[in-house]
Amino acid sequence: MEKNEIILKRQRSAELFEEAKQYFPGGVNSPVRAFKSVFGPPLFIKEGNGCRITDEDDNTYIDFCGSWGPLILGHNNEAVREKIVSTVARGTSFGTPTRLGNELGKLIVDHNRFIDKIRFVSSGTEAVMSAIRLARGITGKSKVVKFEGCYHGHVDSLLVKAGSGLATFGESTSAGIPESFVKETLVLPLNDRKALDDTLRAYAGEIACVIVEPVPANNGLLLQDASFLECLRLKCYKYGVLLIFDEVISGFRVGFEGAAGYYGIQPDIITYGKIIGGGMPVGAYGGSHEVMSHISPDGPVYQAGTLSANPVAMAAGYATLQQLLAPGFYEGQEARTRRLVDRIQHYADRQGYDMHLEQIGSIFWIAFTRQRITRADQIDPAGMEYFKKLHRELLLRGVYLGPSGYEVGFVSAAHTEADLDQAAAIMEEALDVVFA
Ligand code: PLP
Repeated sequence: MEKNEIILKRQRSAELFEEAKQYFPGGVNSPVRAFKSVFGPPLFIKEGNGCRITDEDDNTYIDFCGSWGPLILGHNNEAVREKIVSTVARGTSFGTPTRLGNELGKLIVDHNRFIDKIRFVSSGTEAVMSAIRLARGITGKSKVVKFEGCYHGHVDSLLVKAGSGLATFGESTSAGIPESFVKETLVLPLNDRKALDDTLRAYAGEIACVIVEPVPANNGLLLQDASFLECLRLKCYKYGVLLIFDEVISGFRVGFEGAAGYYGIQPDIITYGKIIGGGMPVGAYGGSHEVMSHISPDGPVYQAGTLSANPVAMAAGYATLQQLLAPGFYEGQEARTRRLVDRIQHYADRQGYDMHLEQIGSIFWIAFTRQRITRADQIDPAGMEYFKKLHRELLLRGVYLGPSGYEVGFVSAAHTEADLDQAAAIMEEALDVVFA
């Protein structure tokens, strides 16, 4: 079949999207899902198995979105599914402590040198919101430093120059955030030690914490120099400011100990989400005994949740994380992702295409420039036109990337080398069309 004759059957998804618009703003329950920056209506997915998802029109795709990161084992992992099903059979929620919560807590704390205690919540946003409150409660100060392009969920004070959906829609700060909140947030460029030092020196008496995605993965993949992150740690100590690593994406992804383990840096508070719940809604934050002693009911910082540590979610998290502890798990993830990335990169280089891929562990991102990018403002929005075309060509050929050029791709344990070779061949064909 000629390339330009390939047509994606999207009738059923289109109908469902029209229907959804009657019920949900923009037809969706999370903005980027609306496919606004790529072609066509969003795909309505009905099933996922291993590294593949199937839409309502029965098209199947090799999936590199993985529900935006949680599914490090792929879709419908057998052990995770069985654990969820056997747990559900005994009821879904009790609003009490459960043995399953203990089991997941122990598994994490026993295998993570960077936290002594953890508190489960129900989303990454909730984890970050609580971590900020904790930092403010401990220090008695109110300002928060964040970095341009880092996304920390839809926490009011952090929806200022944020990535993810805001970058996609070109409005980095949300409406509805009071000016007084914005004033409490100081936004710095990533990888810029001078800006960091100047700000901390000037405002140390008012700054409760610095929050960073140590692996910034919501505005492209803006890999930081390790020395910048080390400098950040030292400066926070120096100025009496708490350091929060937002590891909602990097946690359990770049290693079981996340970016803290990867870079060997001890933050004061770490937030988690995504993988920790094995595809169920879970977030968490953790720190030292001392830091966590400020949380209610031990301490004065209040934080609670009706469905916190929900047993079904705890079961899914446990069944997932347990598998990540298998020897060589992360090395395998990194090696298979490297193979995919290298193959595509070599092809692009041979063809003279103006692009490169960034990678850390099983996270990758396609940048439509050859320059290394470490800050949000280095991304040329014009590159998103290339992504838009690439996304369409990939869908036509059976590869699914998250519907925004600012989002990263995730390789799961269910992507075999054969799957990745197939995806790479499709990617090469799609790039030929994009750069034609
Ligand atoms: N922090 C980071 C680094 C994230 O990537 C996200 C979501 O993508 C969040 C926080 C918010 O997590 P959630 O979407 O579970 O609220």
